[in-house]
Amino acid sequence: MTRIVAISGSGRSGSTLLSLLLSQSDRAFNLGQHRHLPAAWRDDAPCSCDQPLHGCTVYAPVMDAVFGPRAESDIRAFGAAGRRFFKAAGRTRDWHDPQGLDRLRQAHQDYLAPLARLVDAIADATGAETLIDSSKTPEMALAFHLIAPGELLLLNLVRDPRAVAVSWNLKKGSRRDTFSNARKWLQRQKRLSDWGPALGARFRQLRYEDFAAAPEQQIALVHDWAGLVMPPALFPEPDRATLSWGRQHLFPPANEKVLAERKSDVPIRPSMGWRDPGHSWEHRIALLATRPLARQIYPALEDAPPPS
Ligand SMILES: [Zn+2]
Repeated sequence: MTRIVAISGSGRSGSTLLSLLLSQSDRAFNLGQHRHLPAAWRDDAPCSCDQPLHGCTVYAPVMDAVFGPRAESDIRAFGAAGRRFFKAAGRTRDWHDPQGLDRLRQAHQDYLAPLARLVDAIADATGAETLIDSSKTPEMALAFHLIAPGELLLLNLVRDPRAVAVSWNLKKGSRRDTFSNARKWLQRQKRLSDWGPALGARFRQLRYEDFAAAPEQQIALVHDWAGLVMPPALFPEPDRATLSWGRQHLFPPANEKVLAERKSDVPIRPSMGWRDPGHSWEHRIALLATRPLARQIYPALEDAPPPS
């Protein structure tokens, strides 16, 4: 069975870049945000290999092998079954309870069985031993856990909720959803801090701030943890990575900027713009919405207010 590293946490935390950094050896393949594959397939979205997905050399044969001649309607049904699974998983309180998980597994075979075939087909087509998923929702990670118990590695990528709030609002051009987005940060972190430890050594938390402060060192640690081999040329300098796009097949909604630029020379630096006092409203709302968990992950959070 194929090993899966699921990057879980909130958006605007560098998950697309992290998935690229972890999938540079030919023994790993980047699934991107796998939970969006059915929708991207429906839209025949552009793949980062410069083909539309229906012409992609990885996904076209894989989808054909898994879903066969009635692919279009079966993939739509797969997408709908996935949405039902994510909802049911979100409503399931306890993810450690084996009986509860068994019930979930049995009730959602219409999603989990094709998902297992899809994972196998992608591993076959790419020769990868490890697949990297950056869907970010804990529910997607749980689906992988249910199809392959023991093969999931859960990487909780977490970023200061104030930085996440500012980054979302800059992207959307609106402050309207600041509170509800920060609540989503809290819900995901709650779920991960509750479920993760039950996975023992297969759970790891990576703070974006630690990654950005020492990229080469942190990425090497994650490679070691996941049993991945880090290509020696990945970091020509401790804070600069060289990425190859040759084996990447990413599709929207992966980070649009990263997909548009497809940079191979990538300097990695902590992003500090969010600390600008002009964003202090977002800072306050984000702190309010994420109490008390944010402070446990970032003990110095409120003790070190942004410079004014
Ligand atoms: Zn492709």
